[in-house]
Amino acid sequence: METVSLPTPEPQRPTAAPVPFALPHGLALEEEIHRLRKEMNAVILAHYYQDDEIQDIADFVGDSLDLARKAAATDADVIVFCGVKFMAEGAKILSPERQVLLPDLKAGCSLEDSCPPEQFKAFREAHPDHLALTYINCSAEVKALSDIIVTSTNAEAIIRQLPEDQKIIFAPDRHLGAYLSKKTGREMLLWNGACMVHERFSEEALVKLRERHPGAHIIAHPECPEALLSYAHHIGSTSSLIKFAEERPGEEFIVLTEPGIFHQMKQRSAGSLFHPVPGLGAGCANCNNCPYMKFNTLEKIYRCMATRSPEITLPADLITRARQPLERMLEMSRHIPSSGVGSLGPQSLHA
Ligand code: SF4
Repeated sequence: METVSLPTPEPQRPTAAPVPFALPHGLALEEEIHRLRKEMNAVILAHYYQDDEIQDIADFVGDSLDLARKAAATDADVIVFCGVKFMAEGAKILSPERQVLLPDLKAGCSLEDSCPPEQFKAFREAHPDHLALTYINCSAEVKALSDIIVTSTNAEAIIRQLPEDQKIIFAPDRHLGAYLSKKTGREMLLWNGACMVHERFSEEALVKLRERHPGAHIIAHPECPEALLSYAHHIGSTSSLIKFAEERPGEEFIVLTEPGIFHQMKQRSAGSLFHPVPGLGAGCANCNNCPYMKFNTLEKIYRCMATRSPEITLPADLITRARQPLERMLEMSRHIPSSGVGSLGPQSLHA
């Protein structure tokens, strides 16, 4: 397994700017969002890393794969995407005739930032005999330069469908790539990107938590580095981690992923205890929160629905080019059941 070293900038934690939008006094946000949802024929999709109150008003909460499936299959006129920009762009690519709104355009992703399209294009061109398998956490331009998009839920299953002698490049997450390479036994050329949240959980704090809670299951997302994954009893995507907890009610878990996931875990695993692992940095209580996911708030959701802005727009030719690798992903993961929750149901809009 080879890792391509490129000068990737040290990710800076973004800070939220105040919202320049005065909310009418005494507004009941949840009720107003619900009213607008009906009026606009909108569907609200939310990722597991969103704040609890956002998950609670969403029509569907899920992982990247399930959210892409819902976006592709919805008949709503408007998709309000409560996640980050690459997810909302994915919804636009799969459902170009819908209006797609993202509450805050600053909701980016350090993995996306670590893979600039022009560098990725040069990398691809330098390896013409390799298939580009790209994690969904990338820009629309990088998707368009890829052969197949994957998520952490379906990546292993998709790799296993490829011919044994097929050479593969995997971008942009080197940790997920290394994990998949080990799991499937496939040599892969890895792009040198990483998630600023999963890469920075404190190993020292994890060891202390393990000593304090010896009976706890350690569960981890594969975006974590191998050193952290080596402690885990279970490694999997967000939906896989939730399912693991759901099957063990009343037990204890040390969790190596973004803490927004606890909202669903607590609801689906009655009586269980969940311990978050802090991020690196003295006195940094929120270092394990994804700063990008946390840009979204109820106020911004209301505002984007009331003003129909910010809207995700992409050039038609980019949508056409990026759509094929996303559709290949949906096709190659048809056998994987949906696991998200909400009024749309886990399977009701299955693509
Ligand atoms: S948790 Fe990491 S991979 Fe996910 S959106 Fe945030 S920065 Fe990107």
